[in-house]
Amino acid sequence: MEKKQFQAESKRLLDLMINSIYTHKEIFLREIISNASDAIDKLCYLSLTDDQVGMERGDFEIRIKVDPEARTLTVSDNGIGMNAEELEHNLGVIADSGTFRFRQELEEGKSDAEVIGQFGVGFYSAFMVSDHITVVTRKYGEAGAWRWESEGADGYTVEPAERETVGTDVIMHLKPDPEEDPDEFSRYLREFELRGLVRKYSDYIRFPIRMLAKKSRRVEGSPDDKPEYEEVEELETLNSMVPIWQRKKTEVSREEYDKFYEDNFMDYQPPQSVIPVSAEGLVTYKALLFIPANRPMKWGTEEFEPGLQLYSSGVMIMDKCADLLPEQFSFVRGVVESPDLSLNISRELLQHDRQLKIISNNLEKKVKGELERMLREDREGYEKFWKNFGRQLKISALDRYAAKKEALQDLLLFYSSTEKKLVTLAEYVERMQSEQKYIYYATGEQLDAVDHLPQTELLKERGIEILYFTDQVDDFLAEMFHDYKEKPFRSALGGDLDLGDEKKEADEAHKDSFDFIKETLGAKVTEVKASTILKTHPVCMSSGQGPSFEIEKYFAAVQPELGMKASRILEINTEHPAFLKFEAARITDPEKAKKYAEVFYNQALLMAGLPIEDPTAYTDLIVSLWES
Ligand code: ADP
Repeated sequence: MEKKQFQAESKRLLDLMINSIYTHKEIFLREIISNASDAIDKLCYLSLTDDQVGMERGDFEIRIKVDPEARTLTVSDNGIGMNAEELEHNLGVIADSGTFRFRQELEEGKSDAEVIGQFGVGFYSAFMVSDHITVVTRKYGEAGAWRWESEGADGYTVEPAERETVGTDVIMHLKPDPEEDPDEFSRYLREFELRGLVRKYSDYIRFPIRMLAKKSRRVEGSPDDKPEYEEVEELETLNSMVPIWQRKKTEVSREEYDKFYEDNFMDYQPPQSVIPVSAEGLVTYKALLFIPANRPMKWGTEEFEPGLQLYSSGVMIMDKCADLLPEQFSFVRGVVESPDLSLNISRELLQHDRQLKIISNNLEKKVKGELERMLREDREGYEKFWKNFGRQLKISALDRYAAKKEALQDLLLFYSSTEKKLVTLAEYVERMQSEQKYIYYATGEQLDAVDHLPQTELLKERGIEILYFTDQVDDFLAEMFHDYKEKPFRSALGGDLDLGDEKKEADEAHKDSFDFIKETLGAKVTEVKASTILKTHPVCMSSGQGPSFEIEKYFAAVQPELGMKASRILEINTEHPAFLKFEAARITDPEKAKKYAEVFYNQALLMAGLPIEDPTAYTDLIVSLWES
């Protein structure tokens, strides 16, 4: 029979498994059982809506069988099964994106212990202990069965086979034991070992994992003083089937929660927070939520699928139910189980389910509560969380004209000019000076650059705290929020700080100069005026109280056709020697004064992080001043 080759990536992974020096080879059993359980989940779900399946929840099971003579260990399930095509695709080709990540992680020096089983490589792990694997499977709805066979890296065969019922057998022929450890693989043929492994790794699997186990039984009627025993085979259920989210939180250790999370949510690090929820009332449900310590794979890309696993009465209804999570918490992973959800409901209808809405509202509160707790009790932890997911909170806070402002505003962090660290809005307001009317903020791309902005000088001199906005969404937030607890946001770059005591007479005194500059620059500037805030710097550009430069930059990038432009108010420090020099030139050498006006304008643009229109012309201009 023709031997087919594994796809290149699969082959490499297989080599890795076959030659594995991994000490926890025993996890292969967990992987194979977990596949069996997934397959049952699929058929069990189907049976809810399709009478043809002819099976009930209680009929599903996973069987383990050993044959010491043949040296085989078999895991069978009565799940959905695979047809020939699926066999080829599922076992001949490795889940595409998973592999790449898997190898990358290994190359980054993570041990295989951390990565195996988390990147869709589960099935292959059986090659750590087997030298020959046979899969016999029959798909639900199809008459024929198929046999897939492989001895490892040199390929596999697929041929028609016999199987009476729907489901899959994975028959693993164990490797010969090495001399240095005569029990290394043979141990997987012992009931005692298998029982232990199932309890250790697969106890929570919601379908019974059964094994025909030898039991010693007293022969009926044998005399009491001389009892006789006989060996019988009895079907034994090895797992307790109580999923971790159904257990009382006081009875589950953090390690168990961590392990469950790592095994089920493709992460190799324990979660930052674990949130067990048990609710009774309008809707009864249990949930187990996790805030990851890392950004999940594909986070931030379109491929990332948010959502929680949804179960009802032991049947998985959906793997990623997005409706259970509000957008701002889409990074949360976890499981929800409720007996109140109708099992027969279609997935589309489920989205409008009232009970589901109630659960999702409650979960939103729970997650928020946990974040608030972290913020109060574990600031360092919260900052770590913020680094991973803070942007998501900000973006969601903006959504639908800041509809979630109230819910999210106290979870936001911004960098503070005086504290030199991230602070909350509440902390800022708490520190505001008695006369201070606004929450001041300054915008730019980098903290350093913002810190050096001339517009921040006066505020700093007065000891007023400024929030530094370095994320493009921050400006939008200030704009959309308008205020926090009735303290309006005010941009330090807007030109008018409204401190209440600024001198205004400079404008009148220098009216001619300003008119001259305005005339020279024409429509490039909206206004030229004396600055009330500059201390040591000669000029700055402000945008007034309309859209900010950051908002202009944002739209220039994403919707240039809008032609969105912020006002350009050229502010001049009338006490600066450069301005005095300009004033003198205006009388004696107006041509030169025009060049000075251009320099003021272009320098102000540069400081605001705005592009100058013609860098070459500007360079020539500067150089010409040099020469004169
Ligand atoms: P993963 O389970 O992470 O997707 P695996 O390599 O363990 O990766 O399995 C690959 C695929 O093979 C599974 O996604 C599933 O479609 C299929 N498969 C494996 N075992 C079974 C089984 N017992 N019954 C039905 N399908 C299975």
